[in-house]
Amino acid sequence: MQEERLKLPILSEEQVIMEAVAEHPVVIVCGETGSGKTTQVPQFLYEAGYSSDDSIIGVTEPRRVAAVAMSQRVAKEMNLSQRVVSYQIRYEGNVTEETRIKFMTDGVLLKEIQRDFLLSQYKVVIIDEAHERSVYTDILIGLLSRIVSLRAKRLLPLKLIIMSATLRVEDFTQNQRLFATPPPVIKVESRQFPVTVHFNKRTPLEDYSGECFRKVCKVHRLLPAGGILVFLTGQAEVHTLCRRLRRAFPHARPRPPENEDQKDSVEETQKFKKSRARARKAQAATLPQISLDSYSVLPAGEGDEDREAEMDDEEALGSDLDLDLADDGADGGEQPDASLPLHVLPLYSLLAPEKQAQVFQPPPEGTRLCVVATNVAETSLTIPGIKYVVDCGKVKKRHYDRVTGVSSFRITWVSQASADQRAGRAGRTEPGHCYRLYSSAVFSDFEQFPPPEITRRPVEDLILQMKALNIEKVVNFPFPTTPSVEALVAAEELLISLGALQAPQKAERAKQLQRSRLSCPITALGRTMATFPVAPRYAKMLALSRQHGCLPYAITIVAAMTVRELFAELDRPAASDDELTMLKARRARVAHMKRTWAGQGTSRSLGDLMVLLGAVGACEYSGCSPQFCETNGLRLKAMLEIRRLRGQLTTAVNSVCPEAGLFVDPKMQPPSESQVTYLRQIVTAGLGDHLARRVQSEDLLDDKWRNAYKTPLLDDPVFIHPSSVLFKELPDFVVYQEIVETSKLYMKGVSAVEAQWIP
Ligand code: ADP
Ligand code: MG
Repeated sequence: MQEERLKLPILSEEQVIMEAVAEHPVVIVCGETGSGKTTQVPQFLYEAGYSSDDSIIGVTEPRRVAAVAMSQRVAKEMNLSQRVVSYQIRYEGNVTEETRIKFMTDGVLLKEIQRDFLLSQYKVVIIDEAHERSVYTDILIGLLSRIVSLRAKRLLPLKLIIMSATLRVEDFTQNQRLFATPPPVIKVESRQFPVTVHFNKRTPLEDYSGECFRKVCKVHRLLPAGGILVFLTGQAEVHTLCRRLRRAFPHARPRPPENEDQKDSVEETQKFKKSRARARKAQAATLPQISLDSYSVLPAGEGDEDREAEMDDEEALGSDLDLDLADDGADGGEQPDASLPLHVLPLYSLLAPEKQAQVFQPPPEGTRLCVVATNVAETSLTIPGIKYVVDCGKVKKRHYDRVTGVSSFRITWVSQASADQRAGRAGRTEPGHCYRLYSSAVFSDFEQFPPPEITRRPVEDLILQMKALNIEKVVNFPFPTTPSVEALVAAEELLISLGALQAPQKAERAKQLQRSRLSCPITALGRTMATFPVAPRYAKMLALSRQHGCLPYAITIVAAMTVRELFAELDRPAASDDELTMLKARRARVAHMKRTWAGQGTSRSLGDLMVLLGAVGACEYSGCSPQFCETNGLRLKAMLEIRRLRGQLTTAVNSVCPEAGLFVDPKMQPPSESQVTYLRQIVTAGLGDHLARRVQSEDLLDDKWRNAYKTPLLDDPVFIHPSSVLFKELPDFVVYQEIVETSKLYMKGVSAVEAQWIP
C-alpha cells in the first residue's frame, strides 16, 4: 500500500500545495480522479501540523459512500485508528475526542455551520469533489468564503481547500463576489495513460443494457487481461447485467443466480438484526436525548442519489428482464463458458459498504474483474486495475419542472465532460480502451458540462436554511452559480405561504419582485421549521402537530413521506410463470393490506397517508422483521430508514418542545377519530399548495378529463395514481405529496380534504 502511495502523482506536489496553503486562505487543487487528492491532501495537512486537540481537519464529500470509504482508507494509510481519522454521515459516525481528520457529507458540515457559524472546531476545511457542483457543495463554498474572512478578522485563520477532478473551476476563481482575490489553482499532473476511445457506429435506441452485455462478452473473450468497468444508470440495471454476466462466465465458486437473492436476504437479515440490536441499545441509552448536532439537517440533496437508486426498484427497466428470457442463446453469448471465469461485482450507492469494498480487492486468481456500476464510479471512487471501460453514455437524474414542481426520473445522455471522466477510468494503470455504446455524432451533440444541480431543482429547503442563518437577502449570497430568479421567487412564495417567512405588504412585495430583491425575514415558526431535517412542507406539519397528541403520528407520516417508496415494486415483468403467479399473489396481498391500513370512515379520508401510518405501525409492531416486509410488499431498507428518521425527528421535536417528552413507540396505537381529523387538517396546511379539485361531470368537455383533477398551476389533467387507496373514491378535493409524470400526470401520496378547510 505504501509503495502504491509513493507512486501517486500528487506526492511530488506536496510542497507546492503546502506552500500555497500557508500563504493563501483559499486554495484550489485540481487533479484527475485517482491522482491522490482525497487520500493524500488530508495527510499532508496532518503532517504539517494543521490539527491539534481542539482544531481539526474537516473533509466534505457529496456522497456517504465516499465519506466512509475515504476515512477508512486514510486511517489505514496513516496507520492510525478510526478514532483519529473518522467519519460522520447522516445517521452514523465514529468521531471521538481524539478525532483529528473528519470526513463527512456536506450536509453534516452545513448543519454544523448553523450551530457555530465560525466553525471554530476546524483549522482547515477541504471541500472535495467540488466539480460535481452538488447543491450543498455550492452553498458550503459560498458560506465558507464568508467564514474565512470572518475568521481572518478574529485572527483565527481558517484554511479552505477546494478540490476538483476537472479544470473547470472558473465559477470559483472568476467570481468576484465569492472570492475577491482569485484563489491560486494548483494542477496535479495526472499519471494518466492514453485511453483509446471506440465509438459505436450506430447508437442503440433502447437496449443499451443488452448492448453492454454483448460488448463485455466480446472484450472478455477477445482482449488481453485487465479489469472491465461498465457504466449503467441504475441499481436494477446493474443487478440484471451482473446476473447475466455471471451466468455467461461462471467461476470457481459458482453461486446459482437464484440463490443470490436469498443470500442477499440472509445478509440483510443479519445486518438488520445487528442494526436492530444497536438501535435498541441506542434507544435505551439515549432516547429521547440523542444529540442532533452532528446530524445532517437537510432533507433533499445528500440522499438524493440514494433516492434515485431507490426509485430503480420501481422503475426497473422491464425490457432488461424480458431480454433475459428472449435473448438466451440468441447471439451465442449466454452459453455458460466456465473456461473464462469473470469476477462480476455490482457498485452503486445504496449497496452495503462491505460489498462496495469488494471492488478494491484483487479478483480471485485466474479471473478477470468486471465491475458494473452506476455513476458513483465516475469520479468519487477509483477502482484499481481497470483497463476497459464500457460506457452506455446515459445517466439517470430526477428532473423538476421549475414552475409546477412536477418531477420525473429521466435517463438522459451524460455530458461530454462526464463521458471523458468515464473513459479516463481505463487509463489508471496502463494504456486502456473505452467502448462508447453510441456514435461520435451523438457524442458531439452532448452538452459540454452538466449544469450545476442548484439550477436544476426547487430550492425552498435551502432558502429556509439560509434564512435561518440570517442570510436575508438571498439574491446577494455569493453562490458559485446563482439559482434562477424564478426558482428563488417560487421558494420564497412557498415559504411565505407556509408562514416561515414574513409576508411583506403587497406594494412592498411588488417592488421586491420587480427588482428581484427578495428579502423577507424569517419568522419564529420558520426558525422552528428550519430545525427539522425535512422539507419545509413537512416541517410545517411537524410544527403544527403539538396538540391533541398528534406529534407521534405526524412524525411517522413525515418520516414515511420523506423516505418514500415504502412498497416494493410488484409491477415488474415476470421472468417466469412461477414468478408471475408469485407477483400476482403478492399484488393482491398488498392491495388488501393497503385497504386494511387505510381503515374505514374518517381514517380512510386521510388516504395514502393513513396507509403509511398503518404500514409503519404494523411493521414496527412486528419488530420490523424482514419476513413481515417480504409478505406485505414493504421494502425493508425503507422501513429501517423510516425508523432512523423517526428517531431523529423525535429528538428534533423534543429539543424544540421539551415538554412533549416524546419517544419512539414501537407499539404505537392507531390514532383516534378526532386525531385523524386533526391530522388531515395538519396535512392540508403543509400541502396547501398541492391542492387539486375533481373535475365535475358538468365541466367534462373532453373524455381525457374523466376522473381527472385540476390543479392551479397545470393546464393538463392530473390523476390519482392507481396505487393510491383513493384511486376509486375520487374525493372532490385532495392534497397530494407529489406529481410524477409517467404516461400521465399522476398524484402520489393523496389525502382527501374537506371543502370548508380550503382558504
Ligand atoms: P483522487 O481523490 O484524486 O481521485 P484518491 O486519493 O481517492 O484520488 O485515490 C488515490 C489512489 O488510492 C487511487 O489510485 C486508488 O486506487 C487508491 N485507493 C483509494 N481508496 C482505496 C481503497 N479503499 N483501497 C485501495 N486503493 C484505494
Ligand atoms: Mg477524490
